[in-house]
Formats: sequence, structure tokens, C-alpha cells
Amino acid sequence: MKDLLLQVIREEASWAGRYLILPHGEPFREESNDLDGVLGAMGDCKLCPLCRTRKNLVFGEGNARASLMFIGEAPGASEDETGRVFVGPAGKLLTSIIENGMGLKRSEVYIANILKCRPPGNRDPLPEEVEHCIGFLESQIAAVQPRVIVTLGRTATQNLLDIKTPISKLRGIFREYKGIAVMPTYHPSYLLQNPSKKRDVWNDIKKVMDFLQIPRSE
Ligand code: SF4
Repeated sequence: MKDLLLQVIREEASWAGRYLILPHGEPFREESNDLDGVLGAMGDCKLCPLCRTRKNLVFGEGNARASLMFIGEAPGASEDETGRVFVGPAGKLLTSIIENGMGLKRSEVYIANILKCRPPGNRDPLPEEVEHCIGFLESQIAAVQPRVIVTLGRTATQNLLDIKTPISKLRGIFREYKGIAVMPTYHPSYLLQNPSKKRDVWNDIKKVMDFLQIPRSE
């Protein structure tokens, strides 16, 4: 009875959006060594109010045993429409970095976001949304077990590393998450607005290539 009541309250409260303090479901906290298991656990997730405004959940995609994983912030409009990660303009730039810069196929790496549902208007994720969603990402990382994670932008970097340092000070220096090397760099959408920063990102990516012993031409 209590569970049913909470579910009803949650459904009603979700419609009210961020301005109502509502009893969320418990944040997802479960590690799996199987991406299908994580996807199944996520299901038609309604743990936070973003379930009311999303068109599609955007789980992530790529090689389930990738050495290299990219983590962004949240789906944008194109991703929300298609259910696929990083397919809009920023995604095209990320794909170019992977394929033209690193000489890899996009399908060789794994790509995911901190949030699986689009925040309305592409606003920054709210702390409570991250709190409820980041367990899915943690499980994806545990399943893929990459050697290196590249975090794209402030939100991905600060939330994964649980740190408040500005991205401009974090980028280009390897950190660690549960024994996995983490290279923070700028988000591709930031590069679209600030093309002069592409050089910084390329320098960061070259460090990742050296770490993974990926040959580079320059
Ligand atoms: S953002 Fe994450 S926690 Fe919120 S509804 Fe979507 S999948 Fe669930």
C-alpha cells in the first residue's frame, strides 16, 4: 500500500516539474558486468522528472569491451529524437575526433552520458537528476571496464570525479576513477562555439593515444 501511494505521489509530482519537492524513487545503485543487464534495469526509468519530458531514453552505444570510453553530459535534441548518443552537431565533431583524429572507428569506443534523458532546453542537469541517474553510468563503466575514460566538459568531469575544480584547470591532466585513467577535456559543443580550443582538445587526445599506444601521424 505504501509503495502504491508513493508511486501515485511520484506520478503526480513529476508533472509539477522541478519546483515541487517530491519523493523520488531511490537512486539506481547496482553494478553489473553486463550492459544488457544495466539496460534491463533502467527499463522505462521514472526515477526523476525528466522521464516526463523526454522522447527517448539515450542509454549509450559502442563496443561493450572498449578500451576507450567517452562520457558527455546529457542528450540534446537530436539524441532525444533518435535515442542515440552524440548524433547531433556536437556528436559529429566527436565522431570526427575519434575517426579522423585518432584513426579509430566510432564503433570501437563506447560513448555514454551522465544523464540518460534530455533536460528541457538543454539546461544543465540538476544535482538531484544526476544523483538518481549516475548509477546507470557507473554500472556501464563497470560492465565495459575501459582502460581510459575521456570526460567531455564540466558536468561529466565534475560529477564522475566528484570534484568542483573548473574544467579549464582539470583538462589535460590524467585523473583516476576506480583504478581507470580519466582524461578530462572540453565538450564538443563548447568547441563548436570556441573553435580556438580545438588545439587544447587535440593535445589532450594525443595524451590518450599515447597512453593506449595508438599510433599517431604527427
Ligand atoms: S534522467 Fe536518468 S534517472 Fe532520470 S528518468 Fe532519465 S534515466 Fe531515469
